[in-house]
Amino acid sequence: MNAHATPAIHALARPEVPPLPAYNAGLSSEAVRARYGASEIARMASNENPHGPSPAVAAALAGLASRVATYPDAQCTALRAAIGERTGVVPAHIVVGNGSEDILQMLCQAFAGPGDRVLTQRPAFGLHEIYPRMMGAEVELLELTPALDFDVDAWCQALARGPKIAMLANPSNPVGCMFDAAAFERLLDATPDGTLLVVDEAYCEYASLAPGYPDVLSLLRGRSMPWIVLRTFSKAWGLAGLRVGYGLASDDALVQLLDRVRTPFNVNHAAQAAALAAWGDEGFMRRGVAETVRLRGVLARRLAGLPGLRIAPSATNFLFLDLGRPNGPVNEALLARGIITKPWKEAGFEHFLRVSVGTEAQNARFAQALQGILEGRP
Ligand SMILES: *Cc1c(COP(=O)(O)O)cnc(C)c1O
Repeated sequence: MNAHATPAIHALARPEVPPLPAYNAGLSSEAVRARYGASEIARMASNENPHGPSPAVAAALAGLASRVATYPDAQCTALRAAIGERTGVVPAHIVVGNGSEDILQMLCQAFAGPGDRVLTQRPAFGLHEIYPRMMGAEVELLELTPALDFDVDAWCQALARGPKIAMLANPSNPVGCMFDAAAFERLLDATPDGTLLVVDEAYCEYASLAPGYPDVLSLLRGRSMPWIVLRTFSKAWGLAGLRVGYGLASDDALVQLLDRVRTPFNVNHAAQAAALAAWGDEGFMRRGVAETVRLRGVLARRLAGLPGLRIAPSATNFLFLDLGRPNGPVNEALLARGIITKPWKEAGFEHFLRVSVGTEAQNARFAQALQGILEGRP
């Protein structure tokens, strides 16, 4: 491969595209193994589930080879019916995506354009910012409070100004903080009817164990603004590698608009079969989530005494750590020990590192490594 760019290529691109930041997907285990010579890799950068999916998933995937010559169900009929049954949302109000990222992209393609304003948080989940900008919309970013929490007053004021779309991750990635039911109701009271509210609940299964976490569907029902709640099989359900997310929407017209921009066969056979099997074993998911929440507490207590370290309160399967020093060298030292975490790159957050809660052994290894690094031991 050469690095040559044809003279016209940048002029041909839509003006929104060249300035977009690339999504920071982090380093692969293979890359870390090759670059640092580490033999055992601890993947703690992407909030993946160390317990994996229900054993029912492997059984469901085993029979798939005979089906790969045919297109998958473009409507995800069985999966939408199953999701509808447990959530109480009718299938006509449900959209399934190739990951919930896919639904975020559909939402921006359908609703965001030049001159539109999209409201979200800083630091944000990258795609809450990248997809609106891709469509030419402006993004307004709200700051955290000094205690690393959502600023509910600032959110209410900004919502009242009537953004076209509000992208609200509850709980937040990367911070882990959440709006409780009272705060969430204040947000809803502040939101005008003309604003589309996107509530990204990628970590809701973990947050549902945190006191005060809102039952968002019951709060949204009966409200007059359009809304969609996004959830994913990537985290608690252990299916990040197969890419399945879903949206529960205020109305079928919203789902039909997303269907116009959705690639028709966006969720493949394996993804649909695996998601359906995982969904059928809710007990497995709940046990894994409870274990991760327990281990998050163990890890936070273990880290709490480290010099100069501050830990944001978390309702998720990760911790956002203020290292009190630039995260680059700390990250390099962790990688040299085979531990992959996510050093935050956004301006103002270069002292922060996000670490996913792993197995008990991974957490202990991370805590010991971080302690050594912060105390200056080689
Ligand atoms: C992980 C994550 C997602 C992405 O989920 P996929 O379903 O894997 O695309 C969406 N939103 C937030 C806030 C996340 O952290």
